[in-house]
Amino acid sequence: MPSDIAVEKKKLKKPPLGLHFLGDRVLRQAAKRIAKVDDELRQLVREMLQTMYSEDGIGLAAPQVGVHKQLIVIDCEPDNAANPPLILINPTVKQVSRDLCVAQEGCLSIPGVYLDVKRPQVVEIAYKDEYGRPQTLKASDLLGRCIQHEMDHLNGVVFVDRVENSLTLAQELSKNGFSYQAVKPVA
Ligand SMILES: [Zn+2]
Repeated sequence: MPSDIAVEKKKLKKPPLGLHFLGDRVLRQAAKRIAKVDDELRQLVREMLQTMYSEDGIGLAAPQVGVHKQLIVIDCEPDNAANPPLILINPTVKQVSRDLCVAQEGCLSIPGVYLDVKRPQVVEIAYKDEYGRPQTLKASDLLGRCIQHEMDHLNGVVFVDRVENSLTLAQELSKNGFSYQAVKPVA
């Protein structure tokens, strides 16, 4: 059964929502818990999905479009029409693995910058879906990484804050028109 929030996976010339970029204050503010999952929220979900597909992303958190809500959309297979997107409302981390792994990340809010980030291999989360139903999910690999990256956005953290090689980071940011001053290292 197709989901109520299903949108066509295509690139729109004018995506419904505008992105915010590294250096914008909005990316540094913590998102608020969502009290009610209703049609208005599902409309926002649709617009976030359309924006994500249009911008060639596989994940988008509400703060990236200037909305201070604990809402994330993810689709690790944007070219597969049969793969439904994952909608996370008020997600919380239940557990992470002690095993860490390193992989390259990018972010729609920092276009052009792709760098290695170390994160737990496996993450287990609790969240509500687009109908307000409580769900849990255990994820690893690309999905697990994407979930952790997007959940960081809800806490005002961006992936470059976790990049350990600060020299490479400074170079990549400057090459792509961003300031290293906008980075807030987590450790
Ligand atoms: Zn991001």
